[in-house]
Amino acid sequence: MLYPFVPVLLLRSLVAGAALSLVVACAAEPLAQAALTDSRQSSAPIAGSDVEATPHLSFSEWREQFRSEALAAGISPELFDQAFAGVSPDPGVIAADRSQPEFTRPVWQYLDGALSTQRVRSGQQLLKEHRTTLERIEALYGVDRQTLVAIWGLESSFGQIQGDKSVVRSLATLAHEGRRPQFAKSQLIAALQILQSGDIRIEQMRGSWAGAMGQTQFIPTTYNTHAVDFDGDGRRDIWNSAADALASAAHYLQASGWQQGQPWGFEVSLPEAFDYALADAELRKPLAEWRRLGLRGVPQGQDERTASLLLPAGHRGPAFLVTDNFRAILRYNNSSAYALAIGLLGERFQGGGEIAAGWPRGEQPLSRSERLELQERLDRQGFNPGKPDGIIGANTRKAIRGFQQQLGWPADGHPNQELLGRLRAQP
Ligand code: CA
Repeated sequence: MLYPFVPVLLLRSLVAGAALSLVVACAAEPLAQAALTDSRQSSAPIAGSDVEATPHLSFSEWREQFRSEALAAGISPELFDQAFAGVSPDPGVIAADRSQPEFTRPVWQYLDGALSTQRVRSGQQLLKEHRTTLERIEALYGVDRQTLVAIWGLESSFGQIQGDKSVVRSLATLAHEGRRPQFAKSQLIAALQILQSGDIRIEQMRGSWAGAMGQTQFIPTTYNTHAVDFDGDGRRDIWNSAADALASAAHYLQASGWQQGQPWGFEVSLPEAFDYALADAELRKPLAEWRRLGLRGVPQGQDERTASLLLPAGHRGPAFLVTDNFRAILRYNNSSAYALAIGLLGERFQGGGEIAAGWPRGEQPLSRSERLELQERLDRQGFNPGKPDGIIGANTRKAIRGFQQQLGWPADGHPNQELLGRLRAQP
């Protein structure tokens, strides 16, 4: 790292430059949180044995119990009491945690927002402004600058919208009465460790309602394992330092299996009479094999590299082969719409990233109650979609494929109104 040897005055001007660029960049809604199934840097399930919506303890009883746990984990009593002074549960956090929206945006609408002209222009401008820093980050972590700036753009609109809730208050609320109290508790301990390290002051430790923090929207455990001080001021400041934020994102992607110089994926087109059941995230095949199966648009060379086939809107929409780098982006935020947006936005910065195939824009996505109904009806027909939860996961996709195969339809595992209609017509 070069920054620790940069004279203080120069460092100040770099930091000032970074702050200025945030003001100049146009405001745009951050979209990472709105990804279709946001699951941030966490392998923990959204719902599961951890679910405990009704608290058994009052907030102050819970706080006393948690205080012992935090102290046992090495948090000093002084820091704990300072961090919890005046902290009460945040009703807005509980409302957000329990919200199960009836309608979700289809992937093409999400991409329209994520890849807006304004966001592309801001990113291009920031790529120029931060060129030197980004070159150093690329050299150290092997992650390309376009991907890093795309993540910056979707996570926080390039640092402009980071969330202004107290991280300690949000996580304490979720640990007390959220849907995943154990997960929230581990994040809260990590947040207290960050405060104890002196990287950020309590009043500055702000983030989203779910505790995602700073320009990278790191959850506290990811911060503890992967945040870095890249501008050399001695603090890992992902809130106020663009250099720290971008390098921290690069470090996390590197640790998530990023392959230097490889694309995230590319659009392909499929032959007639294709077996759509091959479009399965669990299934990886070498590029040579995909080519042999008739896919067009697979780059020459790198024949042994593996990729999965992604059909974000089923067989009527675009098709992509996605690589290990796509999977690394999913480790950041486990939503294929998000990962696709990051890959395409990075290409848009360079004048590419257009999708050749059209989206089925006339299709109305299933609402939450329709997804539940779909799962119940698939279950009744013996296709085992798992417990109905309104989430189209691997089991539901498999069940949909089974029903599609029975109908003689393309087995793409994609739920739509037509399929629900056919299920309703079943005896
Ligand atoms: Ca720093």
